[in-house]
Amino acid sequence: MLRCYVSLTAPAARRFTRGFSAVSTPVSTDSRIDSQVAANLMQIGIRRIFDHEHDMYRELCRRFYTQEVVPYHQKWEEEGQVDRKLWNKAGKEGMLCVTVPEQYGGANLDALYAAVHWEEQSYSGSSGPGFMLHSEIVAPYIVHFGTEEQKQKWLPGMCTGDIITAIAMTEPNVGSDLANMQTSAVKKGDEYIINGSKTYITNGYLSDMVIVCAKTDPSKGAKGISLFLVDTKTKGFNKGRKLKKMGMKAQDTCELFFEDMVVHKSCLLGEENKGFIYLMTELPQERILVGDQALASAEACFELTRTFVSERKAFGSTISALQTVKHTMASLKTEICVARNFADRCIELLKDNKLDNQSASMAKYWLTDLQSKVADACVQLHGGAGYMLEYPVARHFIDGRVSRIYGGSNEIMKELISRSIFEKKK
Ligand SMILES: Cc1cc2nc3c(=O)[nH]c(=O)nc-3n(C[C@H](O)[C@H](O)[C@H](O)COP(=O)(O)OP(=O)(O)OC[C@H]3O[C@@H](n4cnc5c(N)ncnc54)[C@H](O)[C@@H]3O)c2cc1C
Repeated sequence: MLRCYVSLTAPAARRFTRGFSAVSTPVSTDSRIDSQVAANLMQIGIRRIFDHEHDMYRELCRRFYTQEVVPYHQKWEEEGQVDRKLWNKAGKEGMLCVTVPEQYGGANLDALYAAVHWEEQSYSGSSGPGFMLHSEIVAPYIVHFGTEEQKQKWLPGMCTGDIITAIAMTEPNVGSDLANMQTSAVKKGDEYIINGSKTYITNGYLSDMVIVCAKTDPSKGAKGISLFLVDTKTKGFNKGRKLKKMGMKAQDTCELFFEDMVVHKSCLLGEENKGFIYLMTELPQERILVGDQALASAEACFELTRTFVSERKAFGSTISALQTVKHTMASLKTEICVARNFADRCIELLKDNKLDNQSASMAKYWLTDLQSKVADACVQLHGGAGYMLEYPVARHFIDGRVSRIYGGSNEIMKELISRSIFEKKK
């Protein structure tokens, strides 16, 4: 039995360890190396924040993406969504909602496991599955603010992949300025009547349950927002079209419309009018998730490019022999590895429940900007091949672009960071 699974109940441990067969040689915590001295930035067994059990989970995730996702991704891009069965496959492998407590079907593991999964998704270059939004953004809201009844109702199905979830904050006229959202929830007896619309909702088309953000007190701005756990089969809940995007084409991003949608008061998450506080509490996790996925994408781009320039010939030798190419690669590696240090520190803080808003905002803004810069340079180093979708670096380039926009745009991140610089210390 693996060391860290000793505390799990037998079914949870079985569920989680299924598929762990060809495990790499254990690397003790003392002898782990940093990524800058590793042979490959995506190497398993490096980085001091992880231990051998995390490596084993990484192997599981890597195998899953290589075998179950990458070969089908292009087909899903054409269809605008992944196959629903993929969600159950991931659930069966114990890859959904790993941090959810065991009594609700999760594995109660630390946030480092979540990070391993989101990095492996980025390394594989497959942006389709909306697992991370479901497992590491939606599930924590229910774990932290849900009633026992809500936890029992939604979490077990979320862990198996039978229930797919989304969170709906953005509206056609309101994104960054969330406090101004227009969707309303009017209380009538034991029920709320919700009207409004949302847009750009990840997992929206496949979703079975959506956390809907709505105004319960329109006179109060941010202090009038509440969150509702809404079954998408509820009368008045309408899914719009799947939106045609520049990248992330296999991810079902869609519009949602609520027309006199009646939900029972038991659907309210936490307390009425506390929604904005809940959003602010959970956003640091979303931000390091987006930031670290972006950094992992930059690491993948770097490795793809290292291979390409080492094989591509021009003027009698490989282009990796050209000084300009060598220096570009040296700069990219330096920036990635410096960023990796800060990102790993933030992931560690997340694991210890100490990640603050300022650090998470810095990570999100810096790492996503870096991803764009690295992906752009790597496309350039691939020449014409870099513009061809059959080369994964092209996908990293287009899929990664959104990371500077969603999860709070990078301009909003700077706004948040600046507040912490100038706020009066008590
Ligand atoms: C692929 C994708 C998936 C998404 N998934 C979800 C999801 O699952 N759920 C969800 O609720 N939302 C989702 N979103 C929405 C996303 O979070 C918003 O697009 C984002 O917050 C920006 O809001 P906006 O598009 O309304 O832009 P706006 O808020 O209109 O901003 C437009 C521009 O103005 C800038 N700006 C705005 N305010 C300021 C300011 N105060 N200072 C400086 N600059 C400012 C912005 O940075 C941006 O550059 C998704 C978006 C995309 C593209």
